[in-house]
Amino acid sequence: MHFFEYKNHQLHCEEIPICEIAEKVGTPFYLYSYHTLVRHFTVFEDAFKGIPHLVCYSAKSNSNLALLRLFVNLGGGVDIVSGGELYRARKAGADPRKIVFSGVGKREDEIEYALKTDILMFNVESSQELQVINEVAGRIGKKAPIAIRVNPDIDPKTHPYISTGLKQNKFGIDILRAPMAYRLAAQLPHLKIVGIDCHIGSQLVEVDPIIEALKRLKQLVENLRKEGMEIQYLDLGGGLGITYEDEEPPHPVEYASTILDEIKGFGCTLILEPGRVIVGNAGVLISKVLYIKENEEKRFVIVDAGMNDLVRPSYYGSYHQIIPVKEEVREEIVADVVGPICESSDFLAKGRKLPHLRSGELIAVMSAGAYGFSMSTNYNSRPRIAEVLVRNDQMFIIHQRESYEDLIRGEEIPEFLMPESGRGKA
Ligand code: PLP
Repeated sequence: MHFFEYKNHQLHCEEIPICEIAEKVGTPFYLYSYHTLVRHFTVFEDAFKGIPHLVCYSAKSNSNLALLRLFVNLGGGVDIVSGGELYRARKAGADPRKIVFSGVGKREDEIEYALKTDILMFNVESSQELQVINEVAGRIGKKAPIAIRVNPDIDPKTHPYISTGLKQNKFGIDILRAPMAYRLAAQLPHLKIVGIDCHIGSQLVEVDPIIEALKRLKQLVENLRKEGMEIQYLDLGGGLGITYEDEEPPHPVEYASTILDEIKGFGCTLILEPGRVIVGNAGVLISKVLYIKENEEKRFVIVDAGMNDLVRPSYYGSYHQIIPVKEEVREEIVADVVGPICESSDFLAKGRKLPHLRSGELIAVMSAGAYGFSMSTNYNSRPRIAEVLVRNDQMFIIHQRESYEDLIRGEEIPEFLMPESGRGKA
């Protein structure tokens, strides 16, 4: 359910024709619908109403300050994986007591920053990390609240690059070794055990793997309780999938009710870290067709957005629906939709059936709100693109398009390379 639809043959975001936004901000740009974001968050949040819970929006899926603030206003916490995401969460006004910090490679400075911020908990991914958090906490006179991220060895049945809960993945501590890690944590003086965590993968379209993971976590918690350890929070991570093409992931209400059946009365506050399911279908990428090119074998639609703006198709072979912003009856073509980047992997769609597109017209790459802008880069020295939020008939630029000056910010040419220094020769 989203608020991108044709009215009078023009694609609108809420009440604004997208072509009007393009005229104001130029192309390409990301476009988000406020009411879609609110709706997705609220449906997810309400679905877990039956038990004590905390929804920590996963900042990595889209970390724009305006979006973070929107979810904070709705009572959300934030799941972070870096000092940079913590900084963003704080700038957006997130309550530190609703921030959880995951990630296999937390640096000491990031740990110290999070400790000084008094976050809710660290989701710890190795025994060495436990030791480091203990040392840092001791040094600054704090007690670090920790959960152990358990790797339950479960196949989430998703793309291998976004599967995280199998033995061959780098994430978490193997479920068989987790009790040892908890015993170590219990002995370290500057740690306080508060929870248990797992995240088995992203774009999950079945609920069974998550329930299996939950069962394994519960078993472990029961054993830990027998050893006298208190587990207050059970963090199930994120991962619920969305429809990009023809996937049929469970609705959040169905997902939640299956989880609630399994966890009700277990005595833990449930934490969830959704990203994609909240923002994925609430955002689109708008791009302009630059050229159409054909040879005996192929037709290429060359557009002004590239893999640096939306990497998912090149990186994961992901599908994004592509539609023209102007709706009209047209003949169908088959084409590759490609960007301007100097890589053959720079495509948004391959061998796609599309309405006959013309150069100069606008296209919308759908379901681009998650892992779109947040995974974008400056490759080929392309300034990162604008982000726009629409609420009813109002538009807000929530991220200015970068300039060429932005591209070189922080770069310096050493003096010896400047010919006028007289030392430019080898
Ligand atoms: N939590 C953790 C630890 C993650 O690694 C991720 C994504 O990879 C998420 C939450 C969010 O996942 P999703 O966007 O699929 O909900």
